Amino acid sequence: MTNSVNRIVIVGGGTAGWLSAAIIAAEHYMADAPASDKHRFQLYLVESPDIPTVGVGEGTWPSMRSTLQKIGVSETDFIRQCSASFKQGTEFHNWTKGGDDTYTHPFTVPHKYSETNLAPHWQTVRDQVKFADAVCPQSRLFNNKLAPKNIATPEYAFNVNYGYHLDAGKFADFLRKHSVENLGVVHISANMTAINCADNGDIQSITTDSHGDIEGDLFIDCSGSQSLLLGKHYGIPLVSKKQYLYNDSALAVQVPYQNTEDPIQSCTLSIAQSAGWIWDIGLPTRRGIGHVYSSAHNTEDRATAELLDYIVATAGDQAAADACVRKITFEPGHREKFWHRNCVAIGMASGFIEPLEASALVLVELSAAMIADQLPANRQMMDIVAKRFNSKFLYRWDRIVDFLKLHYVLTQRQDSQYWIDNCHANGIPDSLQELLSIWQYQSPWHRDTHQIDELFPSASFQYVLYGMDFTTQTDTAQRRTDREAAKIAMTLFRENAQRTEQLINSLPTNRELINKIYKYGFQKI
Ligand SMILES: Cc1cc2nc3c(=O)[nH]c(=O)nc-3n(C[C@H](O)[C@H](O)[C@H](O)COP(=O)(O)OP(=O)(O)OC[C@H]3O[C@@H](n4cnc5c(N)ncnc54)[C@H](O)[C@@H]3O)c2cc1C
Repeated sequence: MTNSVNRIVIVGGGTAGWLSAAIIAAEHYMADAPASDKHRFQLYLVESPDIPTVGVGEGTWPSMRSTLQKIGVSETDFIRQCSASFKQGTEFHNWTKGGDDTYTHPFTVPHKYSETNLAPHWQTVRDQVKFADAVCPQSRLFNNKLAPKNIATPEYAFNVNYGYHLDAGKFADFLRKHSVENLGVVHISANMTAINCADNGDIQSITTDSHGDIEGDLFIDCSGSQSLLLGKHYGIPLVSKKQYLYNDSALAVQVPYQNTEDPIQSCTLSIAQSAGWIWDIGLPTRRGIGHVYSSAHNTEDRATAELLDYIVATAGDQAAADACVRKITFEPGHREKFWHRNCVAIGMASGFIEPLEASALVLVELSAAMIADQLPANRQMMDIVAKRFNSKFLYRWDRIVDFLKLHYVLTQRQDSQYWIDNCHANGIPDSLQELLSIWQYQSPWHRDTHQIDELFPSASFQYVLYGMDFTTQTDTAQRRTDREAAKIAMTLFRENAQRTEQLINSLPTNRELINKIYKYGFQKI
Protein backbone atom coordinates (compact mmCIF):
# COMPACT_ATOMS: atom_id res chain seq x y z
CA MET A 1 0.00 0.00 0.00
CA THR A 2 1.36 3.42 -0.93
CA ASN A 3 1.23 6.20 1.59
CA SER A 4 -0.97 8.57 -0.40
CA VAL A 5 -4.65 7.92 -1.05
CA ASN A 6 -4.78 7.15 -4.77
CA ARG A 7 -7.41 4.44 -5.01
CA ILE A 8 -10.81 4.46 -3.39
CA VAL A 9 -12.96 1.32 -3.55
CA ILE A 10 -16.68 1.45 -2.79
CA VAL A 11 -18.29 -1.94 -2.11
CA GLY A 12 -22.02 -1.90 -2.87
CA GLY A 13 -24.16 -0.30 -5.56
CA GLY A 14 -27.35 0.65 -3.76
CA THR A 15 -28.38 4.26 -3.25
CA ALA A 16 -25.60 4.66 -0.68
CA GLY A 17 -22.87 3.33 -2.98
CA TRP A 18 -23.82 5.30 -6.08
CA LEU A 19 -24.67 8.51 -4.25
CA SER A 20 -21.32 8.35 -2.43
CA ALA A 21 -19.48 7.63 -5.67
CA ALA A 22 -21.11 10.59 -7.42
CA ILE A 23 -20.58 13.02 -4.54
CA ILE A 24 -16.91 12.13 -4.03
CA ALA A 25 -16.11 11.92 -7.74
CA ALA A 26 -17.87 15.21 -8.55
CA GLU A 27 -15.76 17.02 -5.96
CA HIS A 28 -12.46 15.73 -7.34
CA TYR A 29 -12.94 14.84 -11.00
CA MET A 30 -11.88 17.49 -13.53
CA ALA A 31 -13.71 16.62 -16.73
CA ASP A 32 -12.04 19.41 -18.72
CA ALA A 33 -8.46 18.54 -17.73
CA PRO A 34 -6.10 16.48 -19.97
CA ALA A 35 -6.59 12.72 -19.50
CA SER A 36 -3.56 12.37 -17.22
CA ASP A 37 -4.83 15.08 -14.80
CA LYS A 38 -8.54 14.30 -14.69
CA HIS A 39 -8.43 12.26 -11.50
CA ARG A 40 -6.90 13.08 -8.15
CA PHE A 41 -7.50 9.39 -7.46
CA GLN A 42 -9.21 6.39 -9.07
CA LEU A 43 -12.68 5.58 -7.77
CA TYR A 44 -13.96 2.02 -8.20
CA LEU A 45 -17.42 0.77 -7.31
CA VAL A 46 -17.82 -2.98 -6.93
CA GLU A 47 -21.44 -4.11 -7.08
CA SER A 48 -22.82 -7.61 -6.86
CA PRO A 49 -24.85 -8.64 -9.94
CA ASP A 50 -26.71 -11.13 -7.72
CA ILE A 51 -27.55 -9.43 -4.42
CA PRO A 52 -30.46 -7.00 -4.79
CA THR A 53 -30.51 -3.55 -3.22
CA VAL A 54 -32.94 -2.90 -0.36
CA GLY A 55 -35.11 -1.15 -2.97
CA VAL A 56 -36.98 1.20 -0.64
CA GLY A 57 -35.94 4.67 0.55
CA GLU A 58 -38.10 6.93 -1.51
CA GLY A 59 -38.31 10.14 0.54
CA THR A 60 -35.50 12.72 0.63
CA TRP A 61 -34.74 15.97 2.37
CA PRO A 62 -34.30 19.34 0.61
CA SER A 63 -30.53 18.72 0.89
CA MET A 64 -30.92 16.39 -2.10
CA ARG A 65 -31.46 19.42 -4.35
CA SER A 66 -28.01 20.84 -3.68
CA THR A 67 -26.49 17.35 -3.81
CA LEU A 68 -27.92 16.75 -7.29
CA GLN A 69 -26.87 20.19 -8.41
CA LYS A 70 -23.31 19.66 -7.13
CA ILE A 71 -22.91 16.32 -8.86
CA GLY A 72 -23.95 18.05 -12.07
CA VAL A 73 -27.25 16.49 -13.07
CA SER A 74 -30.20 18.29 -14.61
CA GLU A 75 -33.28 18.40 -12.40
CA THR A 76 -35.47 17.78 -15.44
CA ASP A 77 -33.55 14.57 -16.28
CA PHE A 78 -33.69 13.47 -12.64
CA ILE A 79 -37.45 13.98 -12.38
CA ARG A 80 -38.14 12.24 -15.66
CA GLN A 81 -35.76 9.31 -15.19
CA CYS A 82 -36.32 8.59 -11.49
CA SER A 83 -40.14 8.97 -11.48
CA ALA A 84 -39.55 11.74 -8.95
CA SER A 85 -42.11 14.14 -7.51
CA PHE A 86 -41.90 16.95 -4.97
CA LYS A 87 -41.92 16.43 -1.22
CA GLN A 88 -42.58 19.44 0.99
CA GLY A 89 -42.61 17.71 4.37
CA THR A 90 -44.64 15.13 6.28
CA GLU A 91 -48.26 15.06 7.41
CA PHE A 92 -48.89 12.97 10.53
CA HIS A 93 -52.31 11.45 11.13
CA ASN A 94 -53.60 9.97 14.38
CA TRP A 95 -50.32 10.37 16.23
CA THR A 96 -51.62 12.60 19.02
CA LYS A 97 -55.00 11.17 19.99
CA GLY A 98 -55.52 8.22 17.68
CA GLY A 99 -58.70 9.82 16.34
CA ASP A 100 -58.92 12.29 13.52
CA ASP A 101 -55.94 14.40 14.54
CA THR A 102 -53.43 15.76 12.04
CA TYR A 103 -50.27 17.85 12.22
CA THR A 104 -47.51 18.65 9.80
CA HIS A 105 -43.74 19.03 9.68
CA PRO A 106 -43.13 21.25 6.64
CA PHE A 107 -39.66 21.85 5.19
CA THR A 108 -40.00 25.63 5.40
CA VAL A 109 -39.04 27.26 8.71
CA PRO A 110 -41.52 29.72 10.30
CA HIS A 111 -41.83 33.17 8.71
CA LYS A 112 -38.83 35.43 9.58
CA TYR A 113 -37.49 32.65 11.82
CA SER A 114 -34.01 34.11 12.11
CA GLU A 115 -35.39 37.31 13.66
CA THR A 116 -38.50 36.39 15.62
CA ASN A 117 -39.63 33.35 17.51
CA LEU A 118 -43.34 33.17 16.73
CA ALA A 119 -43.98 30.15 18.95
CA PRO A 120 -44.69 32.11 22.19
CA HIS A 121 -47.03 34.47 20.35
CA TRP A 122 -48.92 31.64 18.71
CA GLN A 123 -50.03 30.63 22.24
CA THR A 124 -52.60 33.48 22.17
CA VAL A 125 -54.21 32.16 19.01
CA ARG A 126 -53.60 28.44 19.46
CA ASP A 127 -57.31 27.64 19.70
CA GLN A 128 -57.99 29.32 16.37
CA VAL A 129 -55.16 28.17 14.12
CA LYS A 130 -52.71 25.29 14.01
CA PHE A 131 -49.11 26.24 14.69
CA ALA A 132 -47.81 25.22 11.25
CA ASP A 133 -50.60 27.12 9.47
CA ALA A 134 -49.99 30.24 11.54
CA VAL A 135 -46.27 30.47 10.77
CA CYS A 136 -45.72 28.90 7.34
CA PRO A 137 -47.69 28.46 4.08
CA GLN A 138 -46.59 24.93 3.35
CA SER A 139 -49.19 22.79 5.14
CA ARG A 140 -51.99 24.50 3.23
CA LEU A 141 -50.09 23.67 0.04
CA PHE A 142 -50.01 20.00 1.14
CA ASN A 143 -53.77 20.11 1.61
CA ASN A 144 -54.22 21.31 -1.94
CA LYS A 145 -51.57 18.93 -3.33
CA LEU A 146 -49.74 21.89 -4.81
CA ALA A 147 -46.20 21.97 -6.19
CA PRO A 148 -43.44 24.06 -4.56
CA LYS A 149 -42.71 26.00 -7.77
CA ASN A 150 -43.80 26.74 -11.34
CA ILE A 151 -42.52 25.42 -14.67
CA ALA A 152 -40.83 28.82 -15.22
CA THR A 153 -38.89 28.54 -11.94
CA PRO A 154 -35.30 27.54 -12.79
CA GLU A 155 -34.00 24.08 -11.90
CA TYR A 156 -33.46 23.58 -8.15
CA ALA A 157 -34.89 27.05 -7.30
CA PHE A 158 -38.24 27.24 -5.48
CA ASN A 159 -41.15 29.26 -4.11
CA VAL A 160 -41.22 27.02 -1.02
CA ASN A 161 -38.51 24.63 0.12
CA TYR A 162 -38.74 21.02 -1.11
CA GLY A 163 -37.08 17.62 -1.40
CA TYR A 164 -38.23 14.65 -3.47
CA HIS A 165 -40.10 11.40 -3.56
CA LEU A 166 -38.39 9.06 -6.00
CA ASP A 167 -38.19 5.50 -7.28
CA ALA A 168 -35.19 4.01 -5.42
CA GLY A 169 -34.30 1.47 -8.14
CA LYS A 170 -34.39 4.07 -10.91
CA PHE A 171 -32.39 6.51 -8.78
CA ALA A 172 -29.50 4.05 -8.34
CA ASP A 173 -29.50 3.39 -12.13
CA PHE A 174 -29.55 7.14 -12.84
CA LEU A 175 -26.62 7.78 -10.49
CA ARG A 176 -24.66 4.83 -11.91
CA LYS A 177 -24.98 6.12 -15.47
CA HIS A 178 -23.98 9.65 -14.50
CA SER A 179 -21.05 8.52 -12.32
CA VAL A 180 -19.62 6.22 -14.97
CA GLU A 181 -20.25 8.38 -18.05
CA ASN A 182 -19.50 11.83 -16.65
CA LEU A 183 -17.49 11.49 -13.45
CA GLY A 184 -14.92 8.83 -14.30
CA VAL A 185 -16.10 6.20 -11.78
CA VAL A 186 -15.06 2.65 -12.71
CA HIS A 187 -17.95 0.21 -12.29
CA ILE A 188 -17.07 -3.41 -11.53
CA SER A 189 -19.94 -5.86 -11.55
CA ALA A 190 -18.71 -8.68 -9.31
CA ASN A 191 -19.26 -10.36 -5.97
CA MET A 192 -16.74 -9.60 -3.27
CA THR A 193 -15.67 -12.98 -1.89
CA ALA A 194 -12.82 -12.10 0.49
CA ILE A 195 -11.15 -9.19 2.25
CA ASN A 196 -7.35 -9.17 2.37
CA CYS A 197 -5.40 -7.31 5.03
CA ALA A 198 -1.96 -5.71 5.09
CA ASP A 199 0.38 -6.39 8.04
CA ASN A 200 -0.78 -3.24 9.82
CA GLY A 201 -4.42 -4.42 9.78
CA ASP A 202 -5.61 -2.08 7.02
CA ILE A 203 -7.60 -3.57 4.16
CA GLN A 204 -5.20 -4.01 1.26
CA SER A 205 -7.56 -5.46 -1.31
CA ILE A 206 -10.81 -7.30 -1.83
CA THR A 207 -11.11 -10.48 -3.84
CA THR A 208 -13.97 -10.76 -6.33
CA ASP A 209 -15.40 -13.76 -8.15
CA SER A 210 -14.95 -12.35 -11.66
CA HIS A 211 -12.42 -9.48 -11.52
CA GLY A 212 -9.65 -10.85 -9.31
CA ASP A 213 -8.23 -8.74 -6.49
CA ILE A 214 -8.99 -5.03 -6.31
CA GLU A 215 -6.52 -2.98 -4.27
CA GLY A 216 -7.34 0.27 -2.55
CA ASP A 217 -6.10 2.89 -0.09
CA LEU A 218 -9.55 3.71 1.27
CA PHE A 219 -12.52 1.29 1.28
CA ILE A 220 -16.08 2.56 1.58
CA ASP A 221 -18.48 -0.06 2.88
CA CYS A 222 -21.86 0.42 1.18
CA SER A 223 -22.72 -3.28 1.30
CA GLY A 224 -26.08 -2.71 2.99
CA SER A 225 -27.24 -4.06 6.34
CA GLN A 226 -24.73 -6.95 6.19
CA SER A 227 -21.98 -4.36 6.71
CA LEU A 228 -19.45 -6.74 5.17
CA LEU A 229 -16.31 -4.67 5.75
CA LEU A 230 -16.90 -2.63 8.90
CA GLY A 231 -19.28 -5.00 10.69
CA LYS A 232 -18.33 -8.50 9.55
CA HIS A 233 -14.62 -8.07 8.76
CA TYR A 234 -13.61 -5.61 11.46
CA GLY A 235 -16.27 -6.69 13.98
CA ILE A 236 -17.39 -3.15 14.81
CA PRO A 237 -20.63 -3.87 16.70
CA LEU A 238 -24.06 -2.40 16.15
CA VAL A 239 -25.24 -0.18 18.99
CA SER A 240 -28.93 -1.01 19.31
CA LYS A 241 -31.41 1.82 19.87
CA LYS A 242 -34.33 -0.51 20.43
CA GLN A 243 -34.69 0.66 24.01
CA TYR A 244 -35.89 4.01 22.57
CA LEU A 245 -37.32 3.21 19.14
CA TYR A 246 -39.20 -0.09 19.08
CA ASN A 247 -39.94 -0.49 15.38
CA ASP A 248 -37.91 -3.28 13.77
CA SER A 249 -40.06 -4.53 10.88
CA ALA A 250 -41.48 -3.09 7.69
CA LEU A 251 -43.97 -4.31 5.10
CA ALA A 252 -43.54 -2.51 1.78
CA VAL A 253 -45.80 -2.50 -1.28
CA GLN A 254 -46.18 -0.56 -4.52
CA VAL A 255 -49.72 0.50 -5.35
CA PRO A 256 -50.92 1.83 -8.72
CA TYR A 257 -53.13 4.91 -8.94
CA GLN A 258 -56.74 4.13 -9.74
CA ASN A 259 -56.51 6.77 -12.48
CA THR A 260 -53.26 7.80 -14.18
CA GLU A 261 -54.14 11.47 -13.61
CA ASP A 262 -54.97 11.08 -9.88
CA PRO A 263 -53.49 13.85 -7.70
CA ILE A 264 -49.96 13.33 -6.35
CA GLN A 265 -49.43 14.12 -2.65
CA SER A 266 -46.98 16.97 -1.92
CA CYS A 267 -45.83 15.42 1.35
CA THR A 268 -45.19 12.00 2.85
CA LEU A 269 -48.22 10.79 4.76
CA SER A 270 -47.54 9.04 8.08
CA ILE A 271 -50.59 7.39 9.57
CA ALA A 272 -50.23 5.98 13.09
CA GLN A 273 -51.46 2.41 13.64
CA SER A 274 -51.95 0.22 16.70
CA ALA A 275 -48.21 -0.55 16.96
CA GLY A 276 -46.41 1.48 14.32
CA TRP A 277 -47.27 3.67 11.37
CA ILE A 278 -48.00 3.52 7.65
CA TRP A 279 -46.09 5.62 5.13
CA ASP A 280 -47.69 6.71 1.87
CA ILE A 281 -45.46 8.28 -0.78
CA GLY A 282 -46.83 9.55 -4.09
CA LEU A 283 -44.71 9.19 -7.22
CA PRO A 284 -46.04 10.23 -10.65
CA THR A 285 -46.35 6.57 -11.68
CA ARG A 286 -47.45 4.82 -8.46
CA ARG A 287 -47.59 5.10 -4.70
CA GLY A 288 -45.05 3.52 -2.34
CA ILE A 289 -46.84 2.38 0.80
CA GLY A 290 -45.51 0.54 3.82
CA HIS A 291 -46.15 -0.31 7.43
CA VAL A 292 -43.33 0.06 9.96
CA TYR A 293 -44.08 -1.72 13.24
CA SER A 294 -42.67 -3.21 16.40
CA SER A 295 -42.54 -7.01 16.32
CA ALA A 296 -42.69 -7.01 20.12
CA HIS A 297 -46.09 -5.29 19.98
CA ASN A 298 -47.65 -6.56 16.76
CA THR A 299 -47.80 -9.77 14.71
CA GLU A 300 -46.99 -9.81 11.01
CA ASP A 301 -50.55 -10.94 10.25
CA ARG A 302 -52.11 -8.05 12.11
CA ALA A 303 -49.66 -5.54 10.62
CA THR A 304 -50.46 -6.90 7.14
CA ALA A 305 -54.18 -6.63 7.81
CA GLU A 306 -53.80 -3.00 8.89
CA LEU A 307 -51.77 -2.26 5.76
CA LEU A 308 -54.32 -3.92 3.47
CA ASP A 309 -57.18 -2.07 5.20
CA TYR A 310 -55.40 1.17 4.43
CA ILE A 311 -54.91 0.19 0.78
CA VAL A 312 -58.58 -0.78 0.46
CA ALA A 313 -59.62 2.58 1.95
CA THR A 314 -57.33 4.67 -0.25
CA ALA A 315 -56.88 2.66 -3.47
CA GLY A 316 -59.72 0.17 -3.58
CA ASP A 317 -60.29 -3.57 -3.16
CA GLN A 318 -58.48 -4.56 -6.34
CA ALA A 319 -55.26 -2.78 -5.32
CA ALA A 320 -55.33 -4.62 -1.99
CA ALA A 321 -56.01 -7.95 -3.70
CA ASP A 322 -53.07 -7.37 -6.09
CA ALA A 323 -50.70 -6.12 -3.37
CA CYS A 324 -47.34 -7.89 -3.36
CA VAL A 325 -46.15 -7.26 0.18
CA ARG A 326 -42.40 -7.47 0.93
CA LYS A 327 -41.16 -7.84 4.50
CA ILE A 328 -37.95 -6.20 5.71
CA THR A 329 -36.61 -6.63 9.23
CA PHE A 330 -33.94 -4.48 10.84
CA GLU A 331 -32.24 -3.89 14.15
CA PRO A 332 -32.66 -0.18 14.89
CA GLY A 333 -29.23 1.24 15.64
CA HIS A 334 -25.87 2.28 14.29
CA ARG A 335 -22.30 0.97 14.32
CA GLU A 336 -20.23 1.84 17.38
CA LYS A 337 -18.04 3.84 15.00
CA PHE A 338 -18.24 4.38 11.27
CA TRP A 339 -14.61 4.82 10.21
CA HIS A 340 -12.07 2.22 11.35
CA ARG A 341 -8.55 2.05 9.96
CA ASN A 342 -8.90 2.60 6.16
CA CYS A 343 -12.57 1.59 6.00
CA VAL A 344 -15.62 3.83 6.38
CA ALA A 345 -19.26 2.67 6.24
CA ILE A 346 -22.09 4.65 4.65
CA GLY A 347 -25.79 3.83 4.31
CA MET A 348 -27.35 0.69 5.79
CA ALA A 349 -23.82 -0.65 6.47
CA SER A 350 -23.43 2.13 9.05
CA GLY A 351 -26.84 1.64 10.64
CA PHE A 352 -30.55 2.16 10.17
CA ILE A 353 -33.46 3.49 12.20
CA GLU A 354 -37.10 3.60 11.12
CA PRO A 355 -37.68 6.06 8.25
CA LEU A 356 -40.06 8.34 10.18
CA GLU A 357 -38.25 11.50 9.07
CA ALA A 358 -36.46 9.98 6.07
CA SER A 359 -33.10 10.55 7.72
CA ALA A 360 -31.10 7.78 5.99
CA LEU A 361 -30.37 9.32 2.60
CA VAL A 362 -29.42 12.66 4.13
CA LEU A 363 -26.84 10.83 6.25
CA VAL A 364 -25.46 9.26 3.06
CA GLU A 365 -25.23 12.72 1.48
CA LEU A 366 -23.52 14.20 4.54
CA SER A 367 -21.12 11.27 5.00
CA ALA A 368 -19.99 11.32 1.39
CA ALA A 369 -19.72 15.11 1.41
CA MET A 370 -17.49 15.01 4.49
CA ILE A 371 -15.25 12.36 2.92
CA ALA A 372 -15.06 14.40 -0.30
CA ASP A 373 -14.27 17.56 1.65
CA GLN A 374 -11.77 16.12 4.11
CA LEU A 375 -10.35 13.29 2.02
CA PRO A 376 -7.03 12.54 3.68
CA ALA A 377 -4.05 13.20 1.44
CA ASN A 378 -2.22 10.23 2.90
CA ARG A 379 -2.58 7.35 5.34
CA GLN A 380 -1.08 9.29 8.25
CA MET A 381 -3.86 11.89 8.08
CA MET A 382 -6.58 9.29 7.80
CA ASP A 383 -6.85 8.50 11.51
CA ILE A 384 -7.37 12.18 12.31
CA VAL A 385 -10.12 12.53 9.72
CA ALA A 386 -11.65 9.24 10.93
CA LYS A 387 -11.77 10.56 14.51
CA ARG A 388 -13.55 13.73 13.39
CA PHE A 389 -15.93 11.75 11.21
CA ASN A 390 -16.86 9.36 14.02
CA SER A 391 -17.49 12.12 16.50
CA LYS A 392 -19.62 14.15 14.05
CA PHE A 393 -21.78 11.20 13.01
CA LEU A 394 -22.21 9.76 16.50
CA TYR A 395 -23.59 13.19 17.47
CA ARG A 396 -25.89 13.16 14.44
CA TRP A 397 -27.26 9.70 15.19
CA ASP A 398 -28.07 10.78 18.75
CA ARG A 399 -29.95 13.81 17.41
CA ILE A 400 -31.92 11.56 15.05
CA VAL A 401 -32.90 9.27 17.92
CA ASP A 402 -34.01 12.28 20.01
CA PHE A 403 -36.03 13.79 17.20
CA LEU A 404 -37.75 10.55 16.19
CA LYS A 405 -38.55 9.69 19.80
CA LEU A 406 -40.13 13.13 20.25
CA HIS A 407 -42.92 12.04 17.86
CA TYR A 408 -43.77 9.21 20.25
CA VAL A 409 -43.41 10.70 23.73
CA LEU A 410 -45.95 13.46 23.09
CA THR A 411 -48.74 11.08 22.20
CA GLN A 412 -51.87 11.01 24.32
CA ARG A 413 -52.78 7.59 22.91
CA GLN A 414 -53.35 4.88 25.46
CA ASP A 415 -55.16 2.46 23.18
CA SER A 416 -52.37 -0.12 22.92
CA GLN A 417 -49.33 -1.27 24.87
CA TYR A 418 -47.14 0.16 22.09
CA TRP A 419 -48.25 3.74 22.69
CA ILE A 420 -48.21 3.28 26.47
CA ASP A 421 -44.67 1.84 26.37
CA ASN A 422 -43.50 4.68 24.16
CA CYS A 423 -44.19 7.19 26.93
CA HIS A 424 -42.30 5.34 29.67
CA ALA A 425 -39.56 7.55 31.10
CA ASN A 426 -36.95 4.78 30.88
CA GLY A 427 -37.45 4.64 27.11
CA ILE A 428 -36.65 8.33 26.63
CA PRO A 429 -32.99 9.35 26.04
CA ASP A 430 -31.64 11.67 28.77
CA SER A 431 -30.80 14.30 26.17
CA LEU A 432 -34.43 14.40 24.99
CA GLN A 433 -35.74 14.36 28.55
CA GLU A 434 -33.65 17.47 29.27
CA LEU A 435 -35.01 19.24 26.21
CA LEU A 436 -38.59 18.35 27.13
CA SER A 437 -38.03 19.76 30.61
CA ILE A 438 -36.66 23.06 29.39
CA TRP A 439 -39.27 23.39 26.65
CA GLN A 440 -41.94 23.49 29.35
CA TYR A 441 -40.65 26.99 30.12
CA GLN A 442 -39.10 28.23 26.87
CA SER A 443 -39.94 27.21 23.35
CA PRO A 444 -37.22 25.80 21.08
CA TRP A 445 -35.30 28.38 19.09
CA HIS A 446 -31.74 29.17 18.01
CA ARG A 447 -30.56 28.78 21.63
CA ASP A 448 -31.11 25.01 21.20
CA THR A 449 -28.64 24.85 18.30
CA HIS A 450 -25.25 23.54 19.39
CA GLN A 451 -23.58 23.01 16.01
CA ILE A 452 -23.74 25.15 12.88
CA ASP A 453 -24.72 22.13 10.83
CA GLU A 454 -27.37 20.56 13.06
CA LEU A 455 -29.44 17.94 11.21
CA PHE A 456 -32.76 19.18 12.57
CA PRO A 457 -33.21 22.92 13.02
CA SER A 458 -35.02 24.03 16.18
CA ALA A 459 -37.98 24.88 13.90
CA SER A 460 -38.47 21.14 13.31
CA PHE A 461 -38.85 20.61 17.05
CA GLN A 462 -41.40 23.43 17.16
CA TYR A 463 -43.50 21.85 14.43
CA VAL A 464 -43.65 18.49 16.21
CA LEU A 465 -44.08 19.91 19.74
CA TYR A 466 -46.87 22.33 18.95
CA GLY A 467 -48.38 20.11 16.30
CA MET A 468 -48.82 17.51 19.04
CA ASP A 469 -50.42 19.96 21.54
CA PHE A 470 -47.38 20.56 23.77
CA THR A 471 -47.68 23.62 25.99
CA THR A 472 -44.78 25.89 26.93
CA GLN A 473 -45.73 27.75 30.13
CA THR A 474 -43.40 30.66 30.67
CA ASP A 475 -43.50 31.81 27.08
CA THR A 476 -47.04 32.93 27.83
CA ALA A 477 -45.89 35.17 30.69
CA GLN A 478 -43.02 36.57 28.62
CA ARG A 479 -45.41 37.35 25.82
CA ARG A 480 -47.70 39.41 28.07
CA THR A 481 -44.82 41.63 29.19
CA ASP A 482 -43.71 42.49 25.70
CA ARG A 483 -46.44 44.27 23.78
CA GLU A 484 -44.09 45.53 21.06
CA ALA A 485 -42.94 41.99 20.26
CA ALA A 486 -46.57 40.85 20.21
CA LYS A 487 -47.43 43.54 17.67
CA ILE A 488 -44.57 42.45 15.42
CA ALA A 489 -45.69 38.83 15.75
CA MET A 490 -49.26 39.67 14.73
CA THR A 491 -47.90 41.44 11.63
CA LEU A 492 -45.85 38.35 10.78
CA PHE A 493 -48.89 36.09 11.19
CA ARG A 494 -50.80 38.37 8.80
CA GLU A 495 -47.95 38.38 6.28
CA ASN A 496 -47.83 34.60 6.39
CA ALA A 497 -51.59 34.37 5.80
CA GLN A 498 -51.32 36.71 2.80
CA ARG A 499 -48.38 34.81 1.33
CA THR A 500 -50.24 31.53 1.82
CA GLU A 501 -53.20 32.83 -0.20
CA GLN A 502 -50.89 34.14 -2.93
CA LEU A 503 -49.15 30.79 -3.24
CA ILE A 504 -52.39 28.82 -3.25
CA ASN A 505 -53.63 31.02 -6.07
CA SER A 506 -50.46 30.84 -8.15
CA LEU A 507 -48.93 27.37 -7.81
CA PRO A 508 -49.87 24.43 -10.06
CA THR A 509 -50.74 21.05 -8.60
CA ASN A 510 -47.97 18.51 -8.28
CA ARG A 511 -49.48 16.50 -11.12
CA GLU A 512 -49.78 19.55 -13.41
CA LEU A 513 -46.17 20.53 -12.83
CA ILE A 514 -44.84 16.99 -13.34
CA ASN A 515 -46.79 16.70 -16.61
CA LYS A 516 -45.25 19.97 -17.80
CA ILE A 517 -41.75 18.86 -16.82
CA TYR A 518 -42.22 15.67 -18.85
CA LYS A 519 -43.36 17.79 -21.81
CA TYR A 520 -41.14 20.88 -21.69
CA GLY A 521 -38.57 20.56 -18.89
CA PHE A 522 -37.46 23.29 -16.48
CA GLN A 523 -35.30 26.25 -17.43
CA LYS A 524 -31.66 25.36 -16.88
CA ILE A 525 -29.62 27.68 -14.66
C1 LIG B 1 -38.62 0.14 5.01
C2 LIG B 1 -37.59 1.17 4.69
C3 LIG B 1 -37.98 2.43 4.28
C4 LIG B 1 -37.03 3.42 4.03
N1 LIG B 1 -37.42 4.66 3.68
C5 LIG B 1 -36.49 5.64 3.54
C6 LIG B 1 -36.86 6.96 3.20
O1 LIG B 1 -38.02 7.27 2.98
N2 LIG B 1 -35.88 7.87 3.11
C7 LIG B 1 -34.58 7.58 3.33
O2 LIG B 1 -33.73 8.47 3.30
N3 LIG B 1 -34.20 6.31 3.57
C8 LIG B 1 -35.11 5.35 3.70
N4 LIG B 1 -34.71 4.07 3.95
C9 LIG B 1 -33.28 3.77 3.97
C10 LIG B 1 -32.75 3.63 2.53
O3 LIG B 1 -33.52 2.67 1.85
C11 LIG B 1 -31.30 3.20 2.54
O4 LIG B 1 -30.55 4.04 3.37
C12 LIG B 1 -30.73 3.35 1.13
O5 LIG B 1 -31.49 2.61 0.23
C13 LIG B 1 -29.30 2.91 1.07
O6 LIG B 1 -29.18 1.52 1.12
P1 LIG B 1 -27.74 0.89 0.90
O7 LIG B 1 -27.23 1.33 -0.42
O8 LIG B 1 -26.92 1.20 2.09
O9 LIG B 1 -27.99 -0.67 0.92
P2 LIG B 1 -28.56 -1.65 -0.23
O10 LIG B 1 -29.60 -1.00 -1.05
O11 LIG B 1 -28.92 -2.90 0.49
O12 LIG B 1 -27.32 -1.92 -1.18
C14 LIG B 1 -26.30 -2.84 -0.83
C15 LIG B 1 -25.42 -3.06 -2.05
O13 LIG B 1 -24.33 -3.89 -1.68
C16 LIG B 1 -24.15 -4.87 -2.69
N5 LIG B 1 -23.49 -6.04 -2.11
C17 LIG B 1 -23.88 -6.77 -1.05
N6 LIG B 1 -23.01 -7.80 -0.86
C18 LIG B 1 -22.05 -7.69 -1.82
C19 LIG B 1 -20.90 -8.44 -2.18
N7 LIG B 1 -20.54 -9.54 -1.51
N8 LIG B 1 -20.16 -8.02 -3.23
C20 LIG B 1 -20.48 -6.92 -3.93
N9 LIG B 1 -21.57 -6.17 -3.64
C21 LIG B 1 -22.34 -6.55 -2.61
C22 LIG B 1 -25.56 -5.17 -3.19
O14 LIG B 1 -25.53 -5.78 -4.46
C23 LIG B 1 -26.12 -3.74 -3.22
O15 LIG B 1 -25.74 -3.14 -4.43
C24 LIG B 1 -35.65 3.09 4.17
C25 LIG B 1 -35.27 1.80 4.53
C26 LIG B 1 -36.21 0.85 4.80
C27 LIG B 1 -35.78 -0.52 5.22
